[in-house]
Amino acid sequence: MKVNLLGVNIDALDLEETVRQVAEYVRSGLPHHVITINPEFLYNAQADRKLSDLAGRADLVTPDGVGIVWACRVAGSPVPERVTGIDLMTRLVKQAAVEGWSIFLLGAAPGVAEEAAARFSLDYPGLRVAGVHHGYFNDNEEAKVAGKVRETHPDLLFVALGAPKQEWWIDRNLRETGAAVAVGVGGSFDVVAG
Ligand code: UDP
Repeated sequence: MKVNLLGVNIDALDLEETVRQVAEYVRSGLPHHVITINPEFLYNAQADRKLSDLAGRADLVTPDGVGIVWACRVAGSPVPERVTGIDLMTRLVKQAAVEGWSIFLLGAAPGVAEEAAARFSLDYPGLRVAGVHHGYFNDNEEAKVAGKVRETHPDLLFVALGAPKQEWWIDRNLRETGAAVAVGVGGSFDVVAG
């Protein structure tokens, strides 16, 4: 079920239900965009039609903020719980290790994605890391970066360029990357890398 909040459709799924939905996306093999929408994104989408349209094109939008969860409840259409980028990424990486899905980490300063991948590999033995790439490249390198992702055939692509830059990147490049699921995760690589 989707809940319309300020013109953006938010999925009324808890973290575990979100993971199950992502598993279906991976099985389909077709490209899917997941947004964990925070209050700032939602607020900016009010005045920016392009941004609200971008959110509308996503396959799944999770409520990444207690204020969003609260507002949905007050509006009479509750969503079960807050689903943040870091929580979703961590849970999906755990599931990836179980299912054999491969992951690609794109974003953050040079070296950070490597560190995050190493941390995840320690925490989840057997995890298949398809590749990593930093997030400091020019617009004219965009296609090259998407091509590098494609060469590694990841199932899950985590993009940490900050919102909404990462969502725009995914919107433009997801098909080219060949990944089944892309999720924008903001500053999460920095958190995991420590
Ligand atoms: N970042 C990047 N390329 C850029 C701008 C930012 O890779 O051109 C990275 C930055 O290093 C950080 C993340 O994107 O790891 C943004 O984190 P932030 O917490 O600001 O994002 P938010 O959670 O606010 O979306």
